[in-house]
Amino acid sequence: MKKKPILSLYPWLNNYYDKIINQFQNKKNYTAYIFCSLNGLGIKFLIYELTKWIFCINKQKIYSCSICNNCILVHKNIHPDLYIIKNNIKQVPIGVDYIRNLINKIYQTSYKDVGKIVWFPNFKQLNIFSSNALLKILEEPPKNTYFFLQCNYKEELLPTIYSRCQFWNIFPPNEKISISWLKKNLQNNQIFKTKSIKSALRICNYSPINTFYLLKNNIWKNRNIFYNVLLSAFKTDIMCLLSILDNKHILFYIDWIYLILLDVIKLHLKIDLKFFYNVDQISIIYKIFDLIFIDKIKLMIKKILFYKKILIKINTINYKLVIINLLLSLEDIYKF
Ligand SMILES: [Zn+2]
Repeated sequence: MKKKPILSLYPWLNNYYDKIINQFQNKKNYTAYIFCSLNGLGIKFLIYELTKWIFCINKQKIYSCSICNNCILVHKNIHPDLYIIKNNIKQVPIGVDYIRNLINKIYQTSYKDVGKIVWFPNFKQLNIFSSNALLKILEEPPKNTYFFLQCNYKEELLPTIYSRCQFWNIFPPNEKISISWLKKNLQNNQIFKTKSIKSALRICNYSPINTFYLLKNNIWKNRNIFYNVLLSAFKTDIMCLLSILDNKHILFYIDWIYLILLDVIKLHLKIDLKFFYNVDQISIIYKIFDLIFIDKIKLMIKKILFYKKILIKINTINYKLVIINLLLSLEDIYKF
């Protein structure tokens, strides 16, 4: 009988699940695991499935039963031995007192007698002090207690923590797998051309989940209009872009301008079109290519990245003013 995938929603995670569960079955598992990946790969579902298996009292080989009390509690996210450590306000770090408190709790007996799991969905929320407090417990962990740490980059963890964990770098699935997954999952919605899906995937750093939501969003529907306005803004008045950029999707749009300019550079460098981000916008790329020299494009990209950083880092800034400054400085570059 063909095995059914554990993570049927996100099949690219199955291999990681199998390998880690095999370690547990062969008693060669680690106490702490790091999952390092870009956002939008569904890692939290992998961690839920691993947690379910560890807690399940009626496991069938690599499968958890999904119907025992423990499986149901994990599924409902209310298992008393699962500690999810995060601060809902992104910028506020998890302090040392919080970790000390956690340590006290996990040294007590587990509620369900199936061990304990401590999960950090965003490890970079720990500062140096709370990381060091956690390190102590990783050095001498209580029995049957496991730690799942999630990060975007290895550098977010102290080397001493890293050295006590098994590290899993989780990469996006290859483009072919992602495209067929997207086609399957989008089939009840609008029909997309492969080139359009491919471009969205590349724009979303190959995250199939983020691509799925982007393709369903209205801003994707209006993408052709956006690029035509961009072109006409370059030809006539850059301020035509202001009304489009001045909204909550500003970072998306800035990325789109950045990526299409990168494609124009690729065209200048005679790179094969199949390697472009925007494979569905080749005619716009050619038009910008005819309009602006490569050296100017490079300077424009620098400016875009500079203003993007400002928009991300400073919460209290007047967005409109930043956008006006960005547009005027782009105009200064390509017009003179
Ligand atoms: Zn179960």
